[in-house]
Amino acid sequence: MASVVLDRLVSQLEKLPGIGPRSAERIAFYLLRESTEQACELAEAIRDLKLKLRHCSVCFNLTDEDPCTICQSPKRDHSVICVVEQPKDLAIVEATGVYNGVYHILLGRLSPMEGIGPEQLTIDRLVERIKVGDIKEVIMATNPTLEGDGTAMYVGEIVSGLGVKVTRLARGLAIGSQLEYTSKATLADAISERKKL
Ligand SMILES: [Zn+2]
Repeated sequence: MASVVLDRLVSQLEKLPGIGPRSAERIAFYLLRESTEQACELAEAIRDLKLKLRHCSVCFNLTDEDPCTICQSPKRDHSVICVVEQPKDLAIVEATGVYNGVYHILLGRLSPMEGIGPEQLTIDRLVERIKVGDIKEVIMATNPTLEGDGTAMYVGEIVSGLGVKVTRLARGLAIGSQLEYTSKATLADAISERKKL
């Protein structure tokens, strides 16, 4: 391509998941035709994502205000904590509309294969929350994979040791599946029919 500016944009777009060189070029030319306002809006949204979004200091949800709106909400039941692997899992549980407690995001799962141990997750902070808060139940909503199950067992044992009831999502979820690919209805059932761990 003849333009350094255009080349730069195309090479950046190409790095995005699912975008090949062809699509990158198509998007670049599309943006060129778009109004300046529209294109700058996109640029700003990307910029804000990195500069304004951070992890909630309580639950590690992604948020632009700290604590996040869920942690701040008086309408939520703060005595029930749903533990998930990633912020995207929180969004999925929220979308079911059946859960009114708060969350704790581990920011990963235990993975001996990848060398991810308990110290790399936010387990310590969860323990702190349980010690200072009036917590009645912790729901382990890690993915129903080998590593997600292992993480649920590990964290569940620590939480039980603190005298708090621990539950796990019901087994309606296919083993090895990910929450993000589970239908809302199935996940809603799995939450309502959760079992004592
Ligand atoms: Zn929060």
